Amino acid sequence: MTKPLSHFIAGASLGSSGSDVLLDLNPSDTRDVVAEVPVGTAADAASAVAAARAALPAWRGLTGPARAEHLHRWAAAIEARSEEIAQAMAREVGKPIGEARGEVGRCIVILRYYAGDAVRSVGEVVPAQVAGALQFTLREPLGVVALITPWNFPVAIPLWKAAPALAFGNTVVLKPSEQSPVMALLLAETAHAAGLPAGVFNVLLGTGQGVGEPLLRSAEVRGISFTGSAAVGARVAAIAAERNVRYQTEMGGKNVVIVMPDADLDLAAKLTAAGAMRYAGQKCTATSRAVVAPQIEREFLEKVREQVEGFSLGPVTDPACAIGPVISADSRKRIWAALAATKAEVVCGGVESTGVVFKRGFFVTPTIVRGVDPGAPLAQEELFGPVLAVSSADGLDEAIAIANNSRYGLSASLFTRDIGAALKYIHRIDVGLVRINGDTTGVDPHAPFGGMKGSSSGSREQGSAAREFYTETKTVQVNPV
Ligand code: NAD
Repeated sequence: MTKPLSHFIAGASLGSSGSDVLLDLNPSDTRDVVAEVPVGTAADAASAVAAARAALPAWRGLTGPARAEHLHRWAAAIEARSEEIAQAMAREVGKPIGEARGEVGRCIVILRYYAGDAVRSVGEVVPAQVAGALQFTLREPLGVVALITPWNFPVAIPLWKAAPALAFGNTVVLKPSEQSPVMALLLAETAHAAGLPAGVFNVLLGTGQGVGEPLLRSAEVRGISFTGSAAVGARVAAIAAERNVRYQTEMGGKNVVIVMPDADLDLAAKLTAAGAMRYAGQKCTATSRAVVAPQIEREFLEKVREQVEGFSLGPVTDPACAIGPVISADSRKRIWAALAATKAEVVCGGVESTGVVFKRGFFVTPTIVRGVDPGAPLAQEELFGPVLAVSSADGLDEAIAIANNSRYGLSASLFTRDIGAALKYIHRIDVGLVRINGDTTGVDPHAPFGGMKGSSSGSREQGSAAREFYTETKTVQVNPV
């Protein structure tokens, strides 16, 4: 057996103080054990927080331009190893290599964007009631921030939290998913190679119970940014609220496309198929529902089916691969159980893929079902797999009502040529990311990102929203004597 992975704390590898480990399996081929992951302990969490706390005064004391230089160097260090990181991602989380390369490219953009933010103006001058006084606001870092992240964007999500946190003078403890520790350690290695001071960016490996909760409960942690499932997000929010610590939780989605009779059906079919099936439907913004006008449903679904049948399931290292496996045996089991329980009509997929290559990994055949009751579990529960549930609606009002009938509110798209319909939908749809004639997935790294209802709480991520989250305001008044 291989040696278990180590945490990255205070600029160096540090073994776990516990002995329990989990296996990190290649989801495409479970004979390939990628790593042994320590479960981690409360003592490990305390070490990581102590390192981040010790590094804080010097890091927040640097000028913005000096911190920007560090982020630029980190971007260059990632760029130099980009193909290696993309290949490691394909192996560890089963991401098709084309998408993995795209994610690494996005990391570089994220770091450069926030390096820019570190040198942009902060604060504002506010007129004072005292004559001759100067009143202004300062933006100060929160202190040590805890970042808890999922496996599906194993470098982009940690970085779109860590880059703004660091740019504004905070220090970081990242607790990545136990299913993507290797990717988090590659971030630590590149940060180290780029010369980030020891303790500024720490990686704490382990489970939610083993290290996640002790980290959230640490008195030195002054901000918490979480991305993951709704159930865990609720727990994180409860702990943060109890401690009166600033937090944000980005959670699941049940994202929807609405297809109107006047839509460009080729475009709608292409983007629906891609949004639903690429990376096996495991993006938080993946399209998992379609609400379609009855008069075009048959033609639309035929076009989506053609697109889906043109997608390659694997292997993930083939540049032509679009789908890949789902992350785990549990995930695959949950998806097949949901499909087995539905009475809806299968349009394509619905049976296990044959072939020994697919049996070795957690592959799920991309599946479309139609005639789904909008209140049924298939249209309500986040499956996180390559499954599209199609319902029909007579007219825009009914379609929007079905789209909004969800505990989630992350992303939605309307396909139409009617500007009036588009405007009505923009105002009425209850989601954070609203698209017209576009994919539900993806967002520009400099645009605010997040959802409504059960998809998010706290402030948005990315763009100018990140500055709001990772800094707090001091109002200063200087009076004349
Ligand atoms: P998850 O909730 O199981 O785990 C997320 C992280 O929380 C992991 O690091 C995990 O170890 C940690 N964790 C678990 N229990 C914890 C606890 N009690 N205390 C502290 N930390 C704990 O999610 P996942 O399976 O890794 O990711 C998939 C989910 O993430 C999906 O629901 C998906 O929609 C969501 N997601 C959302 C976004 C978004 O921006 N809205 C982006 C990507 C993924």
